[in-house]
Amino acid sequence: MAYIAVKGMQDIYKDQAASFNYIEEVFKAVCNLYGYHEFRTPILEYTEVFDRSTGESSDIVRKEMYTFLDKGDRSVTMRPEFTAGVIRSVVENKLYATEDLPIKACYVGPVFRYDRPQLGRYRQFTQAGVECIGQDSARVDAETICLAIQILSMLGFENLTLKINTIGDAESRAKYREALKAYFEPKISTMCEDCQQRIKLNPMRILDCKVEADQEIAKGAPKMKEFLSEASEKRFYETLSIIHDLGIEYEIDDSLVRGLDYYGEVVFEIHAKSKAGIDYGALLGGGHYDGMLKTFGGPEMAGVGFAFGLERVYSVMKDNDLFKELDNGLDVYVMPVGESVLDDVFELTSEIRTLGYSAETPFAALKLGSQFKKAEKRGAKFAIILGEDELAKGVAQMKNLKTQEQKEFKLDQLEETLDDAFGEDDDDGCGEPHEHSKEETK
Ligand code: AMP
Repeated sequence: MAYIAVKGMQDIYKDQAASFNYIEEVFKAVCNLYGYHEFRTPILEYTEVFDRSTGESSDIVRKEMYTFLDKGDRSVTMRPEFTAGVIRSVVENKLYATEDLPIKACYVGPVFRYDRPQLGRYRQFTQAGVECIGQDSARVDAETICLAIQILSMLGFENLTLKINTIGDAESRAKYREALKAYFEPKISTMCEDCQQRIKLNPMRILDCKVEADQEIAKGAPKMKEFLSEASEKRFYETLSIIHDLGIEYEIDDSLVRGLDYYGEVVFEIHAKSKAGIDYGALLGGGHYDGMLKTFGGPEMAGVGFAFGLERVYSVMKDNDLFKELDNGLDVYVMPVGESVLDDVFELTSEIRTLGYSAETPFAALKLGSQFKKAEKRGAKFAIILGEDELAKGVAQMKNLKTQEQKEFKLDQLEETLDDAFGEDDDDGCGEPHEHSKEETK
């Protein structure tokens, strides 16, 4: 039997893993600029956490959850999204009462959905996102949208479109659902099986259907804006006016309803296009919600959040060559010339690392030609070459592998030599990784 990864799940390693790390670093750095703090909630939650908040009518809860009984016969679910777990945590830990509001939580990690695997759709994928909880204001909506755009801009995306809509308050949505039901009922027998369920559970979900024929039918459906309460309309225009003042362009998309049940009022997506105009669709989606904390036994408090899938952002970035600045190469490859210096070179390599530079050396004597090949494979910037003669004189050769320039340096001036080569002028020598190991976030 061949051992293979579970269907719809993939291994991520080397350059792709480095690229994921880079996306996460940029994400966390930008979240930090807005005062967000990381939440690490468990991957496994009691099933009710998602049933009750993500919503019984959502596709995720209806058919995509990895749910099973644990050894104590309790139904548990591998998180299909983060918001429900974060809100459960805020309520369970009473953070709404002990922390200054709003609570600004960011997160990144694996989520699991028993979705049909296809290009770019996995059963385990990685989401990064934020929740701003405990203050209900159009400014919170606007700041969250601004954060989302800044994250994608910092990752190098240029052609972004913010699509925004309002799905109103609970009362507006109740009226809208009735109107949608009346519109779809005569046509529902021709629509997909999912839509036949959706009309019973939540007709708004029909607007999210991916089946083309159903989308055609949905085009003629009544629009949310006809059912908006005055308060929801006012709130929507307040948010739009703030984002306009921030210089953010937007498109109102009245078919945008988002696939999760907890949203209310403002919902948004950010779409990306390549320089050549290829439309990549939505990279990120989110919105405002009201009743979530109460669902978990907390107070009535609003929140706004968004999430994006790293796999998707990664593939669009790769397509657009946005990782070219990313430097995963080694700083120094240290080359022993002959068996006799292996131990000294091993120690020298360790010293280089203590100085904060990444370094590798072969564990056995190799011909210099093979060592240069290894250095190249590791993307090394410099080679340090040390043989018996040099060792006796207390020197080594340092070769810039890009320019091929080579010079001798004194081993007791290792730190100055490296700092000089990498353009560092500090001499802290505290072993902190140097910035050059990874290109700075732009
Ligand atoms: P959602 O939580 O459904 O709003 O999804 C948020 C983001 O997660 C989407 O914009 C996608 O980029 C990503 N995503 C959703 N489902 C999948 C999947 N099955 N595989 C990979 N990425 C996904």
